[in-house]
Amino acid sequence: MRIQIEAFFQFINNLPRKHFFALILLFVFLLVIAFLPSQQQKSKHIKRILTLSSEHGNSASVEPLSAIADEFGMRFANKEGDRKVDVEIVAGDTVSEIFQREGLSAALLQELLDVDQKYLRLGNLLPGQKLKMLMNAENKLLVLKVIIDRASTLTFTLKGDEYVSLLETKKGVWSHSLYKGIISGSFYINAKHAGLSAGQIQQISNALEEKINFNRQLRAGDSFKVLVAKNYIDGTYSFDSEVLAVLIKTRSKTYTAFLSEDGRYYDEDGLGLSKAYRRLPVNGHPRISSPFNLRRLHPITKRVSPHLGTDFAVVVGTRVYSIGDGIVLRAGYHPAAGNYIVIKNSRKYTTRFLHLSKILVRRGQRVEMGDLIAKSGNTGRSTGPHLHYEFHINGRAVNAMKVNLPLSKSVLRKDKKAFNKRRDGFLNEIKEA
Ligand SMILES: [Zn+2]
Repeated sequence: MRIQIEAFFQFINNLPRKHFFALILLFVFLLVIAFLPSQQQKSKHIKRILTLSSEHGNSASVEPLSAIADEFGMRFANKEGDRKVDVEIVAGDTVSEIFQREGLSAALLQELLDVDQKYLRLGNLLPGQKLKMLMNAENKLLVLKVIIDRASTLTFTLKGDEYVSLLETKKGVWSHSLYKGIISGSFYINAKHAGLSAGQIQQISNALEEKINFNRQLRAGDSFKVLVAKNYIDGTYSFDSEVLAVLIKTRSKTYTAFLSEDGRYYDEDGLGLSKAYRRLPVNGHPRISSPFNLRRLHPITKRVSPHLGTDFAVVVGTRVYSIGDGIVLRAGYHPAAGNYIVIKNSRKYTTRFLHLSKILVRRGQRVEMGDLIAKSGNTGRSTGPHLHYEFHINGRAVNAMKVNLPLSKSVLRKDKKAFNKRRDGFLNEIKEA
């Protein structure tokens, strides 16, 4: 210790004069700050370094936040004593730590997490996401905004004595891009070279995997054309994309795939290329302990508290399967939902599995219908072992036991006209280039 102090003073003595005075100045400044009463910090702005996760591809990736307009100030009048706090999440941050830092109670966080069961975003903050909080003079939280990504913001607003949540999603603009190339090596390399992303290439090979063996059947000189819809929010690519049409020409045959409104791929004649969906995420015919019910009354509070899923009474450890092909959008732990998985099955369909004991997939992973994804459990706020299963269409929960799933092999007769029109539109776009 002594040696360290001596070394320190020697270091100071050896400093050039300019640096020495700068050091003194800094020290005095720090002293002043340390003894300032904290009440004087009327409006505190915490700004932190933005660290983005290195994830990429088609999964719901976190985007730079610079493009998000700051509507916060416009929407909420600044009353006397109100305090605003901005936090940018860095790796290792937890929402409970942030609440603690701002003097907000654990009970408040619990309340918000209960409200968050609808969207499951607050308990699972990711680096690069942003929190905006507005507190009144008594440090009561009036508004909490979770800026999830460029497209979506989740807002908790105090209305009376309850918080209500609202997820706002910017739709963005879909625009079509055509990619083409000639096979010279592997399809993957050539498609990549043409500008397609790994996720899009995966979509292509998933769509045609039962028709072509991409490793063996394609030869040098074969050609491909791919039409992709890409989503742009405020002029910037949001990394949300969907392969609309594929045309692969080999010496002997032309293979085609067209994305239908139902989220599945069909060939030029409307014959199905991808597998259908299955109704239940578990085997057998388990008892439904609580059905989907938008008007369910909460047994204790007697308030309307919708049950957005179907509960299967199954023992802990029951195998849970993906009901269709898809990509794992999110997988993790949420205090209310427990271990959970969200799978994006198509542009329209999303499925969610809550209270799991074991998660067997990871975020960004591709799954196929019938893949084992989890073991059921009793984690989170659960009243007993069961699997809570949700089916969403365009972000809205629907009854998974009644939803009209594309279980058929080819385009339905009633949809055939619409499919043909769509297909011809895609073909025209491909030919024009
Ligand atoms: Zn449930």
